[in-house]
Amino acid sequence: EMDEEVSSYAYKETMQITETINMTLKKLKAVDQSREEFVSNVSHELKTPITSIRVLADSLMGMEDVPEELYREFLSDISDEIERESKIIDDLLSLVRMDKISGGNLNIAQVNINGLMELILKRLRPIAGKRNVELTFESIREVTADVDEMKLSLALSNLVENAIKYNVEGGWVRVTLDADHKFFYVKVADSGIGISEEFQEHVFERFYRVDKARSRETGGTGLGLSITKKIVLMHQGALKLQSKEGEGATFTVRIPLTYIS
Ligand code: ADP
Repeated sequence: EMDEEVSSYAYKETMQITETINMTLKKLKAVDQSREEFVSNVSHELKTPITSIRVLADSLMGMEDVPEELYREFLSDISDEIERESKIIDDLLSLVRMDKISGGNLNIAQVNINGLMELILKRLRPIAGKRNVELTFESIREVTADVDEMKLSLALSNLVENAIKYNVEGGWVRVTLDADHKFFYVKVADSGIGISEEFQEHVFERFYRVDKARSRETGGTGLGLSITKKIVLMHQGALKLQSKEGEGATFTVRIPLTYIS
């Protein structure tokens, strides 16, 4: 009888272990698949500018007596593609560095968020001006919080830059900073083209763009929002998107005032 009890116990244990192994394998497979997908996306994105450069250079070399004007046009296109390539590499390095356990550490310090916002807006104001987009900042409270200044600055810059890029001629971008006793909130609202519901969950994925042509035209890599989301999550925060197609978009970042390590 004792034997029976033991073997029944052993049987149950074995079943449980098998179950755990199966679940782990499933998870590993999913990780592997998403990694494979990422690598394939990276290769594609990195090859695209190189292919353009090759085509441009080859056709220049194939021509005889190239007029000065045409020559300059091709060189300028080549230069644009090089710039695009280095932007992709920069964004990729930002992402990959944060993926590594060691690079995933935050350099936390007490930062005045109002000052940080002012700096970001000052840097982006010329871009907004060029696109005839009105850029305003409203600070409802003075905020000091424990953050990684460089990383958070990158995360918030991406949001404001997108709000300018995916806007309409003569549109606006309103940035608001607020806080309660636990969190601070940065809201970036725009009057732009918006994002339809079916795309909203996807825009945080790496390399995802709703409109490839528009993103390309504005120098996008499709990595900005995934970088922003990652940084916000590292700060134990949350990133929310509200939008309707054709009626602008609002991204809200919520981050704890105190970082608990
Ligand atoms: P990109 O480099 O293409 O801007 P992001 O990761 O920053 O990449 O954004 C992904 C996609 O989400 C963009 O290509 C664009 O289609 C959409 N998007 C992001 N921000 C906005 C916004 N404020 N308004 C409308 N669409 C947006």
